[in-house]
Amino acid sequence: MNRVSGIIFSLENEWLLSVGRDKYLQWHDCTNGKRLGGYQTEAWCTSLQFDADSKHVFVGDLGGHISVIKLENNSPSLVTTLNGHSGNVRALAWDPEKRLLFSGSFDESIIVWDIGGQQGTAFELHGHLSKVQGLCYAPHAKKLISCSEDGVVRIWDMNVKRQETPEWSQSDVCERCSSPFFWNFKVMWNQKTVGVRQHHCRKCGRAVCNECSCNESAYPIMGFENSVRFCVECYESITDDE
Ligand SMILES: [Zn+2]
Ligand SMILES: [Zn+2]
Repeated sequence: MNRVSGIIFSLENEWLLSVGRDKYLQWHDCTNGKRLGGYQTEAWCTSLQFDADSKHVFVGDLGGHISVIKLENNSPSLVTTLNGHSGNVRALAWDPEKRLLFSGSFDESIIVWDIGGQQGTAFELHGHLSKVQGLCYAPHAKKLISCSEDGVVRIWDMNVKRQETPEWSQSDVCERCSSPFFWNFKVMWNQKTVGVRQHHCRKCGRAVCNECSCNESAYPIMGFENSVRFCVECYESITDDE
């Protein structure tokens, strides 16, 4: 009933799957054109992928979520929701062999969801400076190709071992030098100091002040192809291999 934003033909099942801004996933039998079923999502659907083998559907939406829906005997059920993006999930790609799901978002990042590993690991790829608009996976070359509104096409080597990014810690003071952050009025008053802005070290995830994190570097092992912020200790520990 609204703009179609994703469409997939599954040769194995002879199905045509589609999603749209009507918040619906629909699938049809290609041999007779019959509608087999539908599933309503919470937000506009913006991208679609399908694992023909296990009949799992991945639906990205405007809110930054990816719904994993299992189609069994033509009745859909929500398995889980993958939350990691803060903006429209515009592109999805799937590696059926290693069972990796790739998602590209308007938040400029790409996330590699390791579904096959069953450990809940998710790696991030940061290389674009604007909204990610398209993703394509080349299984034989093990390369992920991404394009973005920054006008750049990037080719990611998926043979490379990468590390997960840490959770960002929340603190009212710098976790390195204990300077209070600017919303910490009590300590600012007691110490007669000025509050500082909070930043995060991309390697250890600590909440730190600007002075304790003034060094920047690329860090490809965590998927940071452009310069990002590091705390003093982490910056000194970066090796050439990383
Ligand atoms: Zn500090
Ligand atoms: Zn650090």
